Amino acid sequence: MRTTTGWQSTHGSTALEQVPIQRRDLRPDDIAVRIDFCGVCHSDLHAIHAGGAAVGSPDASAGDGAVVPGHEFTGTVTEAGSGVSRFRAGDRVAVGTIVDSCGACPMCRAGQENYCYEFPLLTYGGLDADGSRTQGGYSREYVLRESFAYALPPALDPAAAAPLMCAGITVWEPLRAAGIGPGSRVAVAGLGGLGHLAVRFAAALGAEVTVLSRTADKAEGARALGAEGLLLTTDASQLDAARERFDLVLDTISAPHDLAPLLRLVTVDGTLSLVGFLGELPVNVMDLMAGRKRLTSSGVGGRPQTAQMLEFAAEHGITAQIELLPSAKVEEALTRLERGDVRYRFVLDLSDLG
Ligand SMILES: [Zn+2]
Ligand SMILES: [Zn+2]
Repeated sequence: MRTTTGWQSTHGSTALEQVPIQRRDLRPDDIAVRIDFCGVCHSDLHAIHAGGAAVGSPDASAGDGAVVPGHEFTGTVTEAGSGVSRFRAGDRVAVGTIVDSCGACPMCRAGQENYCYEFPLLTYGGLDADGSRTQGGYSREYVLRESFAYALPPALDPAAAAPLMCAGITVWEPLRAAGIGPGSRVAVAGLGGLGHLAVRFAAALGAEVTVLSRTADKAEGARALGAEGLLLTTDASQLDAARERFDLVLDTISAPHDLAPLLRLVTVDGTLSLVGFLGELPVNVMDLMAGRKRLTSSGVGGRPQTAQMLEFAAEHGITAQIELLPSAKVEEALTRLERGDVRYRFVLDLSDLG
């Protein structure tokens, strides 16, 4: 085994402690990655509060209270297994939320490893084939199969690119699935880690983008990201004026909320896509029926889409707007994220882990 250092939460605490953690010895198709930067995702908070169980994991009850979070990171390959063909030491790579999958089911064969029937192996909180639980990117080193690492395009800043690997692909997949391009009208609900990247990607795809917000103070930030403007969801006259205006409403809100006002903004045959909240939300089918509207969701993306997303980001100069903190300030990042006090994503610099 290899030993590295990481930040671990125990029993739901956001006061993470620096602990030694173990990584497996390299298998022939493994690479070892020195982690340079790791984004701080809302799912990390959920996992911490859930006592170590990763969001959506089928073995969620198996969490033992300890977790090293982190599933959007960039770094440098330090060592490659004997059978590795795509990377060598010194290469810059990016890693997201999935580090393995069965490779044989219909979803894996279709390049949608994110929907693997065996459930994809999550970067942290997942149960690996050898019975160990994966530990995430709030650490200095990670070991994974080369096929779940992505070459980080030279054009992308490695710190600001880290959030592309969860937040970025999470919004890229619904934008692509809805066929968003020049002339499309897209509304983005929630302007956080996911939402701000959705605005950037949708604008770069050629869409006219509107941010939906309960407060007007986000208008300037929305325009700076490429949105045409902001629609105040607390203003009934603005909502009425925008009725059935959007081909896609991309809902990144992480708390429970009412879908009816959002569905009224969706055009005939348009889509409301939920990517921020994974839980039960009531929906009145009448709100879908009137206008033949679609309600959908998705979670990150498969390997082909992830590679395509990175390529598009490099071509259009898209990265996250981040606040970079030394990893020793991880507790500050988590507590501020919890109260929504970040524009728009925290990224940890792991170099202080030596
Ligand atoms: Zn995430
Ligand atoms: Zn599979």
